[in-house]
Amino acid sequence: MNQNIIQLLYIVSIFLFALSLKWMSEVHTSRRGNWSAIAGIIIAILATLSAFQINRLDLLIVAIVVGSMIGAPIGLKVPMTAVPQRTAVSHAFGSLAVGLVGVSEFFQKGISADPVTTAVLCGEMILGFLTFTGSIVAFAKLQEIIPGKPVVYRGRNIITISTLITSIVFAISLVLYPGLEIAFYLMIVLALIFGLLLVLGIGGADMPTVIAILNSYAGISAAALGFILDNRLLIVAGALDGSSGLILAMIMSQAMNRSFVNVLFGGVGARMAVVEQSQQDRVTQTYSSADAATVLLSAKNVIIVPGYGMAVAQAQHVVKELSDILLKRGCDVKFAIHPVAGRMPGHMNVLLAEANVAYDLLWEMDKVNPLFNETDVAVVIGANDVTNPAARTKPDSPLFGMPILNVDKAKTVVFIKRSFGPGFAGVDNELFYLPNTMMVLGDAKNVLSDIIAKLRNTGR
Ligand code: NAP
Repeated sequence: MNQNIIQLLYIVSIFLFALSLKWMSEVHTSRRGNWSAIAGIIIAILATLSAFQINRLDLLIVAIVVGSMIGAPIGLKVPMTAVPQRTAVSHAFGSLAVGLVGVSEFFQKGISADPVTTAVLCGEMILGFLTFTGSIVAFAKLQEIIPGKPVVYRGRNIITISTLITSIVFAISLVLYPGLEIAFYLMIVLALIFGLLLVLGIGGADMPTVIAILNSYAGISAAALGFILDNRLLIVAGALDGSSGLILAMIMSQAMNRSFVNVLFGGVGARMAVVEQSQQDRVTQTYSSADAATVLLSAKNVIIVPGYGMAVAQAQHVVKELSDILLKRGCDVKFAIHPVAGRMPGHMNVLLAEANVAYDLLWEMDKVNPLFNETDVAVVIGANDVTNPAARTKPDSPLFGMPILNVDKAKTVVFIKRSFGPGFAGVDNELFYLPNTMMVLGDAKNVLSDIIAKLRNTGR
């Protein structure tokens, strides 16, 4: 195909990627954003295939068929709750591909490469390979194949950072002495070890943020590879990926009142067993769905607080049904959305949009928090950490400092979950023991269905 047409197709797909990011930032345009990204990637693949002379079409077809056979079931069957680990796997393979293309380029260019090209190639390979092992560990932690607790030991940060620095030192020696093959292998091995050590030292609760950071690394390494291959599409797509991953990680860290450095090197979560034990003797009271229905019947205003448990129970449709009943009764209903409720940014927005909850009922944390004081009932549905007052009151809690939804300020809290177990951060919730909290234990969907049945039976 004519080079001008190929460049034009690259520009079209860059435009579609940028539009897709813009559209995906709003719930009501997010579907359009998805289609735009799909169109962009199809055009990018076709243009790239046409840009080169293909010597082994058979191998290409096998790669496409095998890739699709693995990718399609993952896309169709993986539940919403497992999206973070699915994303980690995508990053792992994407960054491995970037790293391996870097290796192939390195050997093709050999010692004839100029120092700038070698430097960019080395940076790209270090980022690609550390993202690969980091993403594999993130996947294993989220999928609970290995324990989520951070692996903490004396001198951990020094050992971890030393591996990266040594890898960079080998990269510099390669730039200075391009024929030094041993430096090339050691650089890669140390980058792989660094990714492993870095993510092993981070607790499971921080994995979604880590994935956003790794996403950013994968994007930057792809952009660097774009420079080497002189491919503008790869440069722009990598830069978009790198910057959006970074922005996302910043938003998530801010929502947890943490810094990047703290997420990456803080080892948060190692203390949680101690915190849990000290809470064991506390008094709690459980209530029935009928009790919860009675409280809701007399409420004038209700704030619904969804969390990860709503996603697990797939309770979004019954939640919508409950809000419809309450609204019909003249009750003021709002949904309080915490930025890190669930397991990925926007998790609650996506589920509530799927159930057709009106956007204007969704209130962001900062706007809704002052309203809890004058709220009759806060209904917490499978949310836990994002409501835990220990974030405000207990300096020794891993959650301390994280902005939370001030549910405890409501006159009554109906707390729906299956047990008194902790949330993702692994710490007990103060809210279970407050006198204004009614614990209604059970699967969120079942409990809500019961409450709805009771509300309907009253005929009011
Ligand atoms: P959470 O603290 O993980 O708590 C979820 C609760 O849901 C659990 O305590 C669980 O209790 C309950 N649950 C699970 N299945 C249920 C079911 N079928 N029915 C009823 N309840 C059920 O969730 P969260 O309050 O949404 O907080 C999110 C956590 O993830 C925070 O720690 C946040 O920092 C972390 N995080 C999120 C993101 C993000 O992007 N969203 C990013 C980084 C970190 P039972 O087992 O007793 O039922």
